[in-house]
Amino acid sequence: MAVLLLAEVTNGELALDATAKAVTAAKSLGDVTVLAAGASAAAAGDAAAKIEGVSKVLVAEDASLGHRLAEPTAALIVSLAGDYEHIVAPATTDAKNILPRVAALLDVMVISDATAVVDGATFERPIYAGNAIQTVKSNDAKKVVTFRTANFDAAGEGGSAAVEAISASDNPGLSEWVEDKVAESDRPELTSAGIVVSGGRGVGSEEDFQLIEKLADKLGAAVGASRAAVDSGYAANDLQVGQTGKVVAPDLYVAIGISGAIQHLAGMKDSKIIVAINKDEEAPIFQVADYGLVADLFQAVPELTEKVG
Ligand code: FAD
Repeated sequence: MAVLLLAEVTNGELALDATAKAVTAAKSLGDVTVLAAGASAAAAGDAAAKIEGVSKVLVAEDASLGHRLAEPTAALIVSLAGDYEHIVAPATTDAKNILPRVAALLDVMVISDATAVVDGATFERPIYAGNAIQTVKSNDAKKVVTFRTANFDAAGEGGSAAVEAISASDNPGLSEWVEDKVAESDRPELTSAGIVVSGGRGVGSEEDFQLIEKLADKLGAAVGASRAAVDSGYAANDLQVGQTGKVVAPDLYVAIGISGAIQHLAGMKDSKIIVAINKDEEAPIFQVADYGLVADLFQAVPELTEKVG
């Protein structure tokens, strides 16, 4: 079976980790062709060709494919779809914008956030905020699937796939780029960071959220937050971890002043080591924590920050 995998390309560069993890998931389905699309995508295509398990790379460069507009990329994928049984991508924000459009245009279902491949038609994915795993089978002729990258190891390097330039399809003209407003940060990106330090409602104010940021900076970590912390204005919206925020699976997740509601756990419980600091020893976060510290965060966090590094 033939698989078309949409590479994650940002500003002309390949997001290697996300793409290589999706390649691991995709290669169990069949022969993998990677599509690198963007205003500039040649370098991303060359990088994708080196991922082990990739048979071929298609590079589509066109101004209409820049600025992360989903509609022209979806049109391009649909124009290529005739040759593939599976159209897949890492479950990134961009792919979650593009692949449902592809599925709708092909009149098939989309299977999002797949965590395991059972067979060519059957996939596992989490439901109910990660509290149950659903096995879902598609009878559609084409399967459109996004893979949750935290569940797959990245395919190694050492491939040497052929790279072919293709042209973009006609821009459907449904959307137009106006501007990007990008939050600048020197910290690692939340979803790919090795360490995440998150603060919750217990932190109490935007001012005191600096305690979380200082510890994160000492550890070279990304900063995360619970929804309560975001809703209370302590932390920016794009830092939210959880069911309606980002899904992270770092090597180390430090939850500070976070109770551990299921909607928060849905975004972080696959972290390799979980550390919780909470003054309430009954807080549910301790049920998933590998290391728990029952303490007042205003005392424990500055002390910890001082002692680290
Ligand atoms: P709380 O539950 O209020 O917990 C605060 C914790 O801080 C307590 O355990 C307390 O003991 C501790 N604390 C207080 N003071 C201190 C101190 N001085 N020192 C140490 N510890 C202290 N939540 C998310 O996080 N992400 C989501 O994506 C998300 N999506 C949701 C989607 C839906 C549909 C719904 C209904 C809810 C969602 N929620 C989400 C909200 C979720 O249910 C919880 O309300 C939220 O996670 C609670 O955040 P919290 O743990 O920071 O706050």
